[in-house]
Amino acid sequence: MTIFKSICPYDCPTTCGLLVQSDGTRISRVKGDPEDPVCGGVICRKMQHYEKSIHSPERIYTPLKRNGKKGEDCFEPISWDEAVETITGKWKQALSEYGPDSILPFYYSGVMSLIQRNCGDALFNRMGACDLVKTLCASAKGAGYKAVMGDTGCLDPRELADSDFYIVWGSNMKATRLQSMPDLVKGRKQGKRVVLIECFAGEMAEYCDRVVLVKPGTDGALALAMMHVLAKEGLDDADFLQNEAVGYSEFKATLGQYTPEWAESVCGVSAQVIIELAREYAAASAPAIILGSGNSRYGNGGMTVRLITILSSFTGAWQRPGGGFCGCNPGGGPFIDMDRITRPDLRKNKGRKVNINQLAMALKGGQGQTPIRCLHIYGSNPVGSVSNHWVSVRGLKIRIFLP
Ligand code: SF4
Repeated sequence: MTIFKSICPYDCPTTCGLLVQSDGTRISRVKGDPEDPVCGGVICRKMQHYEKSIHSPERIYTPLKRNGKKGEDCFEPISWDEAVETITGKWKQALSEYGPDSILPFYYSGVMSLIQRNCGDALFNRMGACDLVKTLCASAKGAGYKAVMGDTGCLDPRELADSDFYIVWGSNMKATRLQSMPDLVKGRKQGKRVVLIECFAGEMAEYCDRVVLVKPGTDGALALAMMHVLAKEGLDDADFLQNEAVGYSEFKATLGQYTPEWAESVCGVSAQVIIELAREYAAASAPAIILGSGNSRYGNGGMTVRLITILSSFTGAWQRPGGGFCGCNPGGGPFIDMDRITRPDLRKNKGRKVNINQLAMALKGGQGQTPIRCLHIYGSNPVGSVSNHWVSVRGLKIRIFLP
């Protein structure tokens, strides 16, 4: 048996370092790599028994072709040659009869590897197929953050060890940011306070000193009211904001109307709790707001994140190690030239844009749009992850693929 170093290929951006025990043909054990600078040896349950999934007898090893009606779950194995011929034959037919707008590639984050996730783009760009606009998870979050911070990345999670107060805002870190949990637990043992702001307490509550429950979609009102208190009580860092921010005075002038009492009527958090929370936040030297993505998935999501990002600067926290805002690295982006993988230069047409959240509408067609005749899904489960679920399912059942 040899131990190989590897990284996790699953669907989250952490890309944890792994130690993989193998005899060269079969994996017998997978552990976190303690030398990995991000995970430090802590890996999640999805990967802890990877040897069982990768060698599972339930894995599909050949292409399968449906030989019954959709939904009957009847498939037969076919060769790779037949699979390639069938798929490319349908593409050619769709291209000649309906044009490239009738072919929709559909992928998301089933695989997070920068190459494996994105390499299909080059093919579909060359084909001139629809251009999928991938706004599923955190686009509004990224836009809200970027509106305040530009291209500046957020706090590196490793800096959380230096924070002296934590607001876990809409994030079940135990499930989705496991690698930062040790900092939170250790910090709490050192006397640092942890506040959870959520729509429901869930399993994070036991790791926090205070739980503040807001009505869904009203987090922005809470952030505004906290800034109202900070400004009113002179707890904002006026020097920092005047020198380092644009529009501070104009923004501050709008805060008068956003009283804690107003916010109470909007988000359901008592005015007294809002005042206490603002004061506690201001009392910290390097407070960190650890923001999840759920609260950005409402119609006001971008503005919600924009306000929480402004809050993270309001007491000058960014000036000190550990202070600021830690999201899913919005603004950081992959530090490579993605064009070398996705090859936008191969596209000769404008390309029909299809928003991933509007798959159902695209499948439904109408209003002069070319109906989607070929939907090529990889690294994604549209039935489980896109909005307007039942219309998508109906579309998948009846509308697509050439006769
Ligand atoms: S947290 Fe889990 S799924 Fe994500 S990279 Fe690490 S081991 Fe993989």
